[in-house]
Amino acid sequence: MTVTTPLDTAALDELLGADQVLRDPVSLERYSHDDAEWAEFSRPLAVVRARSTDDVVAAVRWAAAAGVRVVPRGAGTGLSGGANAVADSIVLSLELMNAVLEVNTDERYAVTQPGVINDALRATVAEHGLWYPPDPASSAISTIGGNVATNAGGICCVKYGVTRDYVLGLTVVLADGSVVQLGRKTAKGVAGYDLTALMVGSEGTLGIVTSVTVKLLPLAGRDERAVIGYFPSLSAAGDAVAAISRAGIIPAALEIVDRTCLRAVDEWMHLGLPSEVDTLLLARIDERGAAGDEIADHVARVFGDAGGTDVERATDPEEIDRLFQARRLAYPALERLGPVLTEDICVPRNAVPEMLRRIQATAAANDVTIANIAHAGDGNLHPLIIAPEDDPAAKDRAKTAFDRIVADCLALGGTVTGEHGVGLLKLPGLRQELGERVIAMHRSVKDALDPAGTLNPGKAF
Ligand SMILES: Cc1cc2nc3c(=O)[nH]c(=O)nc-3n(C[C@H](O)[C@H](O)[C@H](O)COP(=O)(O)OP(=O)(O)OC[C@H]3O[C@@H](n4cnc5c(N)ncnc54)[C@H](O)[C@@H]3O)c2cc1C
Repeated sequence: MTVTTPLDTAALDELLGADQVLRDPVSLERYSHDDAEWAEFSRPLAVVRARSTDDVVAAVRWAAAAGVRVVPRGAGTGLSGGANAVADSIVLSLELMNAVLEVNTDERYAVTQPGVINDALRATVAEHGLWYPPDPASSAISTIGGNVATNAGGICCVKYGVTRDYVLGLTVVLADGSVVQLGRKTAKGVAGYDLTALMVGSEGTLGIVTSVTVKLLPLAGRDERAVIGYFPSLSAAGDAVAAISRAGIIPAALEIVDRTCLRAVDEWMHLGLPSEVDTLLLARIDERGAAGDEIADHVARVFGDAGGTDVERATDPEEIDRLFQARRLAYPALERLGPVLTEDICVPRNAVPEMLRRIQATAAANDVTIANIAHAGDGNLHPLIIAPEDDPAAKDRAKTAFDRIVADCLALGGTVTGEHGVGLLKLPGLRQELGERVIAMHRSVKDALDPAGTLNPGKAF
C-alpha cells in the first residue's frame, strides 16, 4: 500500500502524541533536506520527533506496515543529502533524544542518546576529566547520532582517528521495529561479526541509532601549540603537507584554509585575518614539554623548506583558538556568497599537491570559483564550488567541475568521500570507485536487514 496524503499519517498521533508529529508547511520544508541544497529532496508526509527508543520503534513499525519510508535525521548539517526526504517518507528526527545517560570514569566510556550535540558531549565528559576526540568542524551543531551514521571525521582525526574508532556499542532499531544491542562496553571484545562497525557510516540505511556507547580518553596530558605558515599557492601548501607526512610527523591537526575562505570569514566576523596571503597552513602539536617543542620546530622547518613565509609558532591558547575558529567558520562564511557545492574527496597524502593543482585547473577550465579548506593531514580536501544564485549556466558548470574533481581524485588513487558520506551527491562516484561486485555486496547486506527498503532508501550506495 502506498500512502500519498498527509491524512494517512494520522495514526502516528495516537502512537506518539500529536505534539511529536509535525505537518505544518514550515516544518515540512525545514526538515525536507540537510545542508546539501544541491541534492534532490521531496516534501515528507510528516516529521516525527522521537523522545525514546519506544517512539522510534512505534514510528518504524507503523511505517513498515503502511509502506512508508523512514528518513532518520539528526541536526540536518549533513553535506551529501543523506538526510534528504524521499518520496512517500516521514522524517524521523532524533534531536529530542538529547541526554548523556552515563559517564563511566573507571572504564572511560559514555553512553549517550543520539540527539546530543557533539560539543555538548565533549563538555559533559570534560567535567569528569575525560575527552571525546572526534571533532567535526560542525561540532557545535551536529549530533552524535548523525556523526555515527556518517562516521564523521574532523580536525584532530589526523592523529586521533574518526568516529568509528570511538564507538564501542550501539542500540539500534531495525527496519522491522526490533531493537538490538550491538558491541560492548569492555576495552576489548571480538564476539561475532563487527556489526557495530557496519552500522557506523551506514547513513541511516540499516538501522536507527537510539543510543551510543563511546570510548573516551583522559583529558589531561596534552600541551597545545600551533605552527602557522603562509604559502604563495595552494600547491606549495600541499607540498608542505606531503613533506610533513614523509618526515613521519603526525600532528594533532593539519588544516588548509585558502585566500577565498580567509577573506569570506574576515568580511563576516572581522577577526583581523591576513587578506593578502594566498594559503594558510595550520598545524597543531600536542605532545608535552620538550618533545612537543621539538616536533613544532620540525614542522616549522618543513613549512619553510616548502616555501612557507612568516612561519610562526603560537602557544597562546586564545590565538590558537582564533586561527582554528577561522577554519571552522569558513563553510558558513562561504555560504553567504552563494549556494555551495561541497566536495569531500580524500587522496593519498603525497598526491595532495597534484590534486590541489588539478582543482585549480578545473576551476579555470569551467569558469567557477572554487574555495578550499582541507583536513590536509589526512589528504581530505574540501573544494567548495560557489555558484551565484539564479544562474543556471553557472550551476551546470559547477556540476561539471564537481564530476571532474571526483574523476581526478579516483585517478590519483583516492576515495570519493573522506567523511561526509555518500548520501545522494556521491552515488555516481561511488559506483566508479567500488565496482558492480562490491555494490552488489552492499545490496545483499541491505536486503538482509531491510528487505522492504523502509530505511532511507536510495542513499549511501
Ligand atoms: C559548517 C559545517 C562543517 C562540517 N564539518 C565537518 C567535518 O569536519 N567532518 C565531518 O565529518 N562532517 C562535517 N560536516 C558535515 C556534517 O556536520 C556531518 O556529516 C555530521 O556528522 C552530520 O550530523 P547531523 O546530526 O547533522 O546529521 P544529519 O545531517 O541529520 O544526518 C546525516 C546522516 O545520518 C543519518 N542519521 C542521522 N541520525 C541518525 C540516527 N540516529 N540513526 C541512523 N541514522 C541517522 C541521516 O539519515 C543522514 O544519512 C560539516 C557540516 C557543516 C555544515
